[in-house]
Amino acid sequence: MLNALRQIVQAVNDASNLDEALQLIVRQVKASMSTDVCSIYLRQDSSRRYRLMATHGLNPSAVGRVTMSTNEGLVGMVADRAEAVNIENVDKHSRNLYFPETGEERYASFLGAPIIHNGEVLGVLVVQKSEAHRFGESDEAFLITVSAQLAIRLAHANLTDTLGRVEAKTDAHQDTFFEGASGASGVAVGTAVAVVTGKDLSAIKPRQTDNIDHEVDRFAQSVAQVREQISAQADSLASRLNKEERELFNVYQRMLDDNALGGEIIERIKQGYTARSSIAWVVNQHVQTFRGMTDEYFRERAIDLIDLGTRVLTALEQSSAPVQGYSDNTVLVGEEITASMITMVPAEQLVGLVAVKGSRNSHGAILARALGVPTVVGVEELSYGVLDQREVIVDGYEAKVYVDPNQALKFKYEQIAREDREMGERYQSLRDEPGVTLDGHRVSLLLNTGLSLDLARAADVGADGVGLYRSEMPFMAADRFPSEEEQRVSYQQHLDAFKDKPVTIRTLDIGGDKPLPYFPIQEDNPFLGWRGMRVTLDHPEIFLMQVRAMLKASVGRNNLRILLPMITSLREYERGYALIRQAHLELIEEGLAVRMPQVGVMIEVPAAVYQAKELAKRADFLSVGSNDLVQYLLAVDRSNARVAPLYSSFHPAVIAALKSIVKSAHKYDCSVTVCGEIAGDPLMATLLIAMGYDGLSMNATSLPRIKSLIRQIDLRQVQVWLKEIKVMEDAKQVERHVIKRMSELGVDPVLYRGTRR
Ligand code: PEP
Ligand code: MG
Repeated sequence: MLNALRQIVQAVNDASNLDEALQLIVRQVKASMSTDVCSIYLRQDSSRRYRLMATHGLNPSAVGRVTMSTNEGLVGMVADRAEAVNIENVDKHSRNLYFPETGEERYASFLGAPIIHNGEVLGVLVVQKSEAHRFGESDEAFLITVSAQLAIRLAHANLTDTLGRVEAKTDAHQDTFFEGASGASGVAVGTAVAVVTGKDLSAIKPRQTDNIDHEVDRFAQSVAQVREQISAQADSLASRLNKEERELFNVYQRMLDDNALGGEIIERIKQGYTARSSIAWVVNQHVQTFRGMTDEYFRERAIDLIDLGTRVLTALEQSSAPVQGYSDNTVLVGEEITASMITMVPAEQLVGLVAVKGSRNSHGAILARALGVPTVVGVEELSYGVLDQREVIVDGYEAKVYVDPNQALKFKYEQIAREDREMGERYQSLRDEPGVTLDGHRVSLLLNTGLSLDLARAADVGADGVGLYRSEMPFMAADRFPSEEEQRVSYQQHLDAFKDKPVTIRTLDIGGDKPLPYFPIQEDNPFLGWRGMRVTLDHPEIFLMQVRAMLKASVGRNNLRILLPMITSLREYERGYALIRQAHLELIEEGLAVRMPQVGVMIEVPAAVYQAKELAKRADFLSVGSNDLVQYLLAVDRSNARVAPLYSSFHPAVIAALKSIVKSAHKYDCSVTVCGEIAGDPLMATLLIAMGYDGLSMNATSLPRIKSLIRQIDLRQVQVWLKEIKVMEDAKQVERHVIKRMSELGVDPVLYRGTRR
């Protein structure tokens, strides 16, 4: 059964369009279950009726003509109940509805399973037999398994197919769009470029370039890099492989030669195509040929080709050489947003980002917000290859991505973009004003930074300093660990950009959804695994190199503060602190006039909430990493789009934890800020101010908005709101209450929030 299931799923994946996929399913399910009929009914969004879309066994002319609502027929019954229906003899069943055009009067037994995606019944999968017999439990289980497996692919195929037919539209306004979650607010109109990081070479469309020599060079460098990787792999496995297996590595090397694949790719580049699209084109051609062969050995070789092509492509995309030929308004679309993806395109040409994975709190979205690039993430249904080179609109407010927009829609969005620019200019007038409430309560407003790209913007928004410099960002964009000197230079740039203001540099926080390409960590459960401080305490050489670079950079500036991530025990803090002292002493011995910086702790796991008092006694300051804290308190993966609705910082448990942290810190006169994304959310920011947080650290886009908001509220007033929500038991209730109170003040929370227009 498992084998049959795998074959069905594989066949559907390989199908080039929805109709083909449906044909394959009905044929293969019928054969696997030895039934007389297998049919698929899909829900029509316009009429909400279930229409026969494919059948093997019923009269083929009935396809497209037979439809049922949820209160009609057995198919309607399956859809209505959202569960399998197993009927021995349909003639005796009151819900049976006979459609003469199908010829189904010949079939007595019926088994139907709903095809459900995201809680919605998209369709019904049915098998029938001529003799009256009750399908067995294992038949039922098999059909349910097939349906569940197919649901995602059908949802996906449905949309892809819609896009394939240019005239087909998907909403009342005749616009084709995909929906996800808002990653960064703002809107952009531009040309999509698909970034392929997985094995989906077929998603890359041919793209032309004028800079042929540059592209040939980039390709040659990538090939050289892949050759090195292959030799290193061959060497390390040499003792464990037999001669024949070792020969495979040589085959790979030969395939890259100028008289083989390598030469063909160069030839294609010389015809005027980019290196990236040439690799994909040549490899795809060969893959198709291999796949069409009857000999299994050759069909299998297609996998080697894809592997090799993907390696070269990955090397090419990770190379730091800027790619030529992006349009001035480039929207990158890919599986997920990464630092290396963003740096592929010159900053001034990147106007939008779209990703299949991720949610508002995944690091890709955080990065996008830091750069102020309108972004939609978690567009689960998107087969992003179909967007390559198409015109798109990214609406980061409504979390929608429009494809091939018409003139009227483009005009509307250009207007919104203009309004946004004007609003930005208005905020700019508050640049030199403090973050102070109407009744005189001062809140320190700090910045979250990470890439040197955002440094220029950051220094200009009127912040009181840097509350969180995510030092892993430049590590993620590099192709090896940066040296001590390279790190010193970049830290010094930060310290200089905020002279006389505190700059809080967090030590390397990798793991979870922040991998380093050159230091892979394979874990089943990375968010509960080797993350942050756990990695650097196991690798003191990496930690010491980084801290030495920070301390050296601080000489003569003295505005450095060091922050330790993912602290789960006092011991971790003490070990981290001891290493910082060690680096400090070493540098003094080396003759540098380095001051010992303030050292702080991130409170981002529940254990640290419960030990906040003990940590506050020891550390110079605390900083709440609410992005992780919420995920660990609520057991909701911050990057998983499927559970994103459950991720809420308004959850009463989160509010209680946040209150408890500030109380613990202030008991020991330890200052405490929040540097998670909630600090930049107007609703949460007001509650944090009411709780007594000393500072809020956020991205450069949110800071001017939050400053403007703080200057319109009164501390005593928001403290009343905090009391009011104390009795509330549900996250939605809390959120609604704060929105209501803010609106009463005449402050439009929607506009300030920047997530929904
Ligand atoms: C956090 O967890 O809130 C935080 C600021 O750290 P990061 O988002 O980088 O994990
Ligand atoms: Mg964190």
